[in-house]
Amino acid sequence: MKFEVSENISKKERLVLGGLIFVAFLSFSSSGGDGLFHVYFLDVGQGDAIFVETPNGKQVLIDGGPDETILQRLGEVMSFYDRTIDLVINTHPDADHLAGLLSVLERYKVLAISETGMACETSLCAEWKNLKAGEGADLINLVLGQEVGMGDSVRFLVLHPFEDEEGKFFSKRNNGGIVLKLLFGSQSLLLTGDIEKQVENKLVLAGVNIDSDFLKIAHHGSKTSSTKEFIEKVSPLAAFIEVGRNNKYGHPTEEVISRLVDFKIPYYRTDIDGTIELVLDGRSYKVKRR
Ligand SMILES: [Zn+2]
Repeated sequence: MKFEVSENISKKERLVLGGLIFVAFLSFSSSGGDGLFHVYFLDVGQGDAIFVETPNGKQVLIDGGPDETILQRLGEVMSFYDRTIDLVINTHPDADHLAGLLSVLERYKVLAISETGMACETSLCAEWKNLKAGEGADLINLVLGQEVGMGDSVRFLVLHPFEDEEGKFFSKRNNGGIVLKLLFGSQSLLLTGDIEKQVENKLVLAGVNIDSDFLKIAHHGSKTSSTKEFIEKVSPLAAFIEVGRNNKYGHPTEEVISRLVDFKIPYYRTDIDGTIELVLDGRSYKVKRR
C-alpha cells in the first residue's frame, strides 16, 4: 500500500477549502465487508482505541489504549485468521493512546501508520520508533486539509493539527492531537482524541466544519474539554466516551455529562457499556453493546 499526496496548499486555503489535499490508498489488503460502516469504541480501560471497518472491509485502528488489552479486544471484532490492519492512526503519543499500539505492531501486519510527527522523548516513544522502523509500513503525518480516501464512499478528513508537527515540541501533547471527521454517505463521526478547550475553540473560531452526526467526546470526558460552544457546533445525535472503570481522574466529569444531558444528546460510555459498536448504513444508525 502506498500513500499519495497529490496537492499542497497553504494553511489559509486549507481552512477555506478543507480537504483539497488528497491522500489516496492505492491498494488494500482486506477483502469482504458487509456493506455497512462499523465503528467499535473498544473497551480498553482508561484510554482510547477505536476500530473502524469500512463497507468493503478496510480496517483502521485509531489509538491503541494503555496496554495489551487491545489485542483481546481486536480478537473480538476481527476474524480469527485476519492478521492485517490497513491503517493505524495515533492521535498523540500519550501512553493511554499509544502504548497498546506497540502490541498491535508486534501482533499484526500494519500497512500504513499515521500520526502528527510531534516530538516525543519518552521511553515508550523510543520503543514505538523502533517497532515502526521494523514494520515496513507507509508513514505519513496528518495535517488539516488532507483527506484519506478509503474507496467505497468513505472519507476521512483531517481537521487538526493545522500545521505539520514534525519534530515540534508540545508541553501538552493533547493539544497537538489529530482530529478526524469520518464520512460515510450523508453520515459523519467526529473523533477528537484528547483535545482540550483551546483546540476546540480554535476549530470553532477558524470556521472548520465540525458539525457531525456522532461525536467521540474529547479527553475521556474531562472538564478540560467539551465546551458548550463546541458541543453546540457539533450537535451530534449521539456521543461516545472512552473511559476506564473507577479511573483515578474522575472521568467522565459531572460537567461534561450534564452538558450532554442539557443538550439531550444520548451518550454511551465504555466503563459502563463495555465495547460499543456504532453501525451506519449511510442514512440510519444502530448502537450495539457487545
Ligand atoms: Zn487520553
